[in-house]
Amino acid sequence: MSKLSGIGMTSQRTRTRFVERLRGQGIKDEVVLEAMGSIPRHIFVDEALASRAYDDCSLPIGFNQTISNPHTVARMTELLRGGKMLGKVLEIGTGCGYQTAVLSRVAQEVYSVERIAPLLTKARGHLREIRAANVRVKHADGSMGLADLGPFDGIIMTAAATHVPEALLSQLAEGGRMVFPIGTGEQRLCLVEHTAQEYRQTTLEAVKFVPLLPGLA
Ligand code: SAH
Repeated sequence: MSKLSGIGMTSQRTRTRFVERLRGQGIKDEVVLEAMGSIPRHIFVDEALASRAYDDCSLPIGFNQTISNPHTVARMTELLRGGKMLGKVLEIGTGCGYQTAVLSRVAQEVYSVERIAPLLTKARGHLREIRAANVRVKHADGSMGLADLGPFDGIIMTAAATHVPEALLSQLAEGGRMVFPIGTGEQRLCLVEHTAQEYRQTTLEAVKFVPLLPGLA
């Protein structure tokens, strides 16, 4: 029995409320809602914060980084899917591995890269705990993507870039979608769709992410 089940953290009621709140916030994709309802978010944060894991907020995960709030995770996953099952997906910024776990339920294969080694070690543990067998994580600077493993049907970046990363666009398959925050002061979500004719860019709502940083740590 999980150490948290005694205080209702894993209860069906908590999960149902969590999903209903996401629905109320405008998330419509049932596949995303199902994935978010099935993943125990509390195992991705430190025990001291576990009671807040299903709240509508971001939380610290150490090393000056944060796990994104649930609505942002759901929204980005919904945008990435665009209503379709995903094949191969690349995530930049594994963090604690929560977004990675959600992706593992909506894509066939997930590759995730993180620049901070000890965070990656933690994420590996979390992903093992939920038995996400279709995920590979790698200690790397994700701004160059993973050229040898592309092209990808979806690319998601969970740290804010100052410009549209060219290297990543070149690894996006035709028909693929890329979702990421862009901007320094004010940040916005950006969706790029790779059609047969063009890379169509749509700028969406304001968001708040940690910055994309160069090099390994
Ligand atoms: N999806 C994560 C969010 C973590 S915050 C989660 O759910 O926990 C963003 C992450 O991006 C941080 O862990 C940060 O270290 C990482 N990051 C920033 N720049 C990066 C880069 N160039 N390559 C890989 N990871 C990067």
